[in-house]
Amino acid sequence: MNKVILKRCEEYNVALIKKQIYSSLNELGGLDKFINQKSKVLLKVNLLTMKKPEQVATTHPAFVEALIEIFKEHDCEVLVADSPGGPFISTMMKRVYRVTKMKEITDKHNIELNQDFGSFQTFDNDSLIYKKMRSSNYTKDVDHVISVSKMKTHAFMTFTGAVKNMFGIIPGLAKADLHMQYPDLLDFANMLLDICKHIKPTLSFMDGIVAMEGEGPGSGDPRQMNAILTSASPYHLDVVATQMINVNPLSVPTIYNSIERGIIKEDFSDIEIVGNLKDFITPTFVPAKTNRIEKSGNLKMLKLFKKYPNIIKKTCIGCKDCANICPAKTIDIVDNKAVIRYENCISCFCCHEFCPVKAITVKRRLMRKRFK
Ligand code: SF4
Ligand code: SF4
Repeated sequence: MNKVILKRCEEYNVALIKKQIYSSLNELGGLDKFINQKSKVLLKVNLLTMKKPEQVATTHPAFVEALIEIFKEHDCEVLVADSPGGPFISTMMKRVYRVTKMKEITDKHNIELNQDFGSFQTFDNDSLIYKKMRSSNYTKDVDHVISVSKMKTHAFMTFTGAVKNMFGIIPGLAKADLHMQYPDLLDFANMLLDICKHIKPTLSFMDGIVAMEGEGPGSGDPRQMNAILTSASPYHLDVVATQMINVNPLSVPTIYNSIERGIIKEDFSDIEIVGNLKDFITPTFVPAKTNRIEKSGNLKMLKLFKKYPNIIKKTCIGCKDCANICPAKTIDIVDNKAVIRYENCISCFCCHEFCPVKAITVKRRLMRKRFK
């Protein structure tokens, strides 16, 4: 059985979060069961981009601080790291660390905040499709990777949680190459599963105290969910998280493929929830831009429809962030406004993810209607 522990926590108070995480770890058999003292642990947080904690796009610093204290009390060496979507370079990361407040909390506890922005090639023969993998150097020389994700909707993948959090081990712009390599939704999900299976996070924690609803993962709105989720399985944790936010788990490609690959049982009978799921289910949670078919969880039907990014011209400030991140290089800036050449668009929604002013929305139309 795969235990997923649910705990209530209504505010970003380090002492309260710590208490609930300790209690969750006890339910799992204690931290000693998973991690020896003196180990080096990597807290793989979600630092999507330069967003303040109150914008709910990144793991909240109080949540990370609680984990830092727990692992320090376990006599572990702690490293905090992530590779956001833009260039993975020192100048960019300095700003991300400052705005997300990771610098503040790691300085306070005198622990390492990753400064190695290099990467290496690795090979995993057990992967289904992504065998030759590029991985950030910060994953080297650690004894345990801990997934510290944020509960959020996602325009491309419906939901982003513990499994998709592992995509951040791919360095910066190399992520864009993977969008080009795996433009199909289910292939992309299999690539994400290959990464997660390769990295094998020892424990997964999800910051669901204030989640992101609507236009996630970067442009959505805060939604108070009061939840901390803990599990040794990122795959099963994600199933429970989607049930809380009123998303059919089968409409999430990573969950759909996890069932196909035998990682999760189809009827979810291999999940033991500790805590009262009903207390957390929020029927009014606003999902990522969706439609009836997505809610039915029929991903094959979903292929008949095409989601595409739509620029709101009056909101666009012409910053070029979308053009720079677009893996298909299909966005031009004309008269200080973004213009998409749809014929090359692969609907990866990197542009939507990175627009700083919410000027890109997601629309959907039947595939037979060709883009103009
Ligand atoms: S990222 Fe947003 S604001 Fe910047 S150019 Fe693109 S659409 Fe406009
Ligand atoms: S326009 Fe947006 S959705 Fe289309 S390929 Fe570029 S980044 Fe991806």
